[in-house]
Amino acid sequence: MGITYHQRTIAKPVSFTGVGVHSGKTVNLTVKPAPENSGINFRRVDLPTQPYIRAHFNRVVDTSLATVIGEDGCIVSTIEHLMASFAGMSIDNAVAELDDYEMPIMDGSAALFAQSIREAGIIEQKAPRIYFAAVSPIKLEKDGKSVCLYPADHMEITCTIKFDHPIINTQTYSINLTEENFEQEISRARTFGFLHELELMKFYGLAKGGALDNAVVLDENSVVNEEGLRYPDEFVRHKILDCLGDFSLLGLPILGHVELFKSGHHFNHEFLKEFFLQKSSWKTTTLAEYQRSGEASSILSAPDNKNTRETKTI
Ligand SMILES: [Zn+2]
Repeated sequence: MGITYHQRTIAKPVSFTGVGVHSGKTVNLTVKPAPENSGINFRRVDLPTQPYIRAHFNRVVDTSLATVIGEDGCIVSTIEHLMASFAGMSIDNAVAELDDYEMPIMDGSAALFAQSIREAGIIEQKAPRIYFAAVSPIKLEKDGKSVCLYPADHMEITCTIKFDHPIINTQTYSINLTEENFEQEISRARTFGFLHELELMKFYGLAKGGALDNAVVLDENSVVNEEGLRYPDEFVRHKILDCLGDFSLLGLPILGHVELFKSGHHFNHEFLKEFFLQKSSWKTTTLAEYQRSGEASSILSAPDNKNTRETKTI
């Protein structure tokens, strides 16, 4: 899986309770199935009109501390890890209802979201899944950072980070996106921060819910959390998780290889703007059309693979 012919939604509602990492407030979240072609929508059920906000690039109002979307004065903050879970588990349509403005941070990763989605079950819908397929490279480079998207018949992310810290240094990781790979290699990677930054943020009334049970915290030389790291390269894996969440705001999944160098939410968002400017570098297509056009490699056009997929979905 990872790339599918048809759109998918969750089979039944799943609920979560947790604190917002910045607000420190307890919030209840329920993820519900949604009709085909409706995309991912958030809904503020604590407000009188219970408004919906579409999870889309053009609804993003802030990317400084977390990804925040807003519409008509109503916002939802810190959506990136749930969005990454939808992307990683190939969920196209869902409604995420919450009773406060900030999403629960859970354990700082996407593990609980991904696991619950898998356990609830995933339903394949009738409508074909539409992709943004890269047809020529798109590059954005600035201040030593870069994001590039290359044509590919699958979704792959390669990420490199560099931090002047003995536990992180330089880390590179690459994933060919399937649900299994996402859940095992990426979903458990937690967000991370530095103790001095966390103290400063708390001083200014930010990161009120930030704690050692929802982030990896580093002091000058080591990991502060007693349990240590979940993977030796947990940091770069989390950056891939964030990238998946950010790119899912394009509104359609990507067929292509994303290469990130020292990027983060803000720069990823800058890249999405560039993506929409370079309209000749991509096209929208279904997977069946893409394969018919002969652009798919032998992986997808292999008879076994193709037959299995088509008989299963049509
Ligand atoms: Zn994150």
